[in-house]
Amino acid sequence: MKDRAPALYNLTLAEIEALLREWRQPAYRARQIYRQLYVNLAASPREMSDLPAALRERLTKEVLFSTLQFERTQSGDGGMTRKALFRVEDGPPVESVLMIYRDRATVCVSTQSGCAMGCSFCASGRMGFRLNLTAGQMIEQVLWAARETRTILASDRTLLTNVVYMGMGEPFNNYDRWWASVERLHDPEGFNFGARHFTVSTVGIVPGIRRLAKEKLPVNLAVSLHAPDDELRSRLVPVNKKYPVAVLMEAVRDYTEATGRRVSFEYVLLQGVNDQPGRALGLARLLKRGPGLALCHVNLIPWNPVPGEPLKPSERRRVLDFQDVLRERHVPCTLRTQRGLDIAAACGQLAGDAKKT
Ligand code: SAH
Repeated sequence: MKDRAPALYNLTLAEIEALLREWRQPAYRARQIYRQLYVNLAASPREMSDLPAALRERLTKEVLFSTLQFERTQSGDGGMTRKALFRVEDGPPVESVLMIYRDRATVCVSTQSGCAMGCSFCASGRMGFRLNLTAGQMIEQVLWAARETRTILASDRTLLTNVVYMGMGEPFNNYDRWWASVERLHDPEGFNFGARHFTVSTVGIVPGIRRLAKEKLPVNLAVSLHAPDDELRSRLVPVNKKYPVAVLMEAVRDYTEATGRRVSFEYVLLQGVNDQPGRALGLARLLKRGPGLALCHVNLIPWNPVPGEPLKPSERRRVLDFQDVLRERHVPCTLRTQRGLDIAAACGQLAGDAKKT
């Protein structure tokens, strides 16, 4: 029976209401369940103490709760970074990273197991594509992080402040499910997470950017650029052959004009590959070309090592010089802080347990 059972985290409130109507339960029960899931963060029907025992039992028997199997967490940065490893049905790995700072807590969520984009410098890309996650499986990662922050910070409130879709996978290759997870987590009747506290990062899937420009919720967009010219970008980010720099920039420009929102460009710094002053100049020119992108920001990311990959991170001096070139040309730019290096949880290091995938 459970084979065809609905997965609770894939259902909207309206869908839970429909299910309970079928079960001939009073309408308010659906809302109770929904609040248990998204406000109390109940992880099983057992914890839903305001429901009658018979209903809890029926939920246990006839719907699926978690469809991500929790395997383990690892703790780094003195306990302020946690990486969780889940599996989908004993197989494909899914990793999520919670980062706690003094004034905020961010969870980095995977949208796929593995990734089909094949960027050579990224562990998820090297792992290849395994599967698309459901909206419920993305939501479960966020709820895991919300529970963790409550425990770590010993609070009964949810102290998670940011959700970034920057884990394994390419969100815009799984757009519908990804967006369903944003809408659900945003729902004021439930988790009530502010739209501006979500960020999605794309490798540069142009139709996804154009679609996002039309959505109602103002989530943040980050674009993985990594090189200002087609020749180099196509080597680092193979999908550039399909959506070259000029086409990508046009979509980003249209996006900022349509939404009035700022876009971040991510730029991983690789020693001797894309970190020369000439590239920084090329990047500044690209962002200032024509009318210029008034609403943009560059996020420089020191490259995090990936096993078996001979690339090297740029030296500190090179990074600072790169930053100077951008700043002199009035391109706002910041350096991403490194988190999770000690537990292979930093940007681009998520590949599950390589031995067991
Ligand atoms: N597929 C999406 C989401 C991944 S976000 C995207 O490409 O944007 C992860 C960010 O970390 C991307 O900008 C990615 O290019 C970058 N990244 C990948 N591997 C990295 C590594 N080894 N070190 C630092 N950043 C890396």
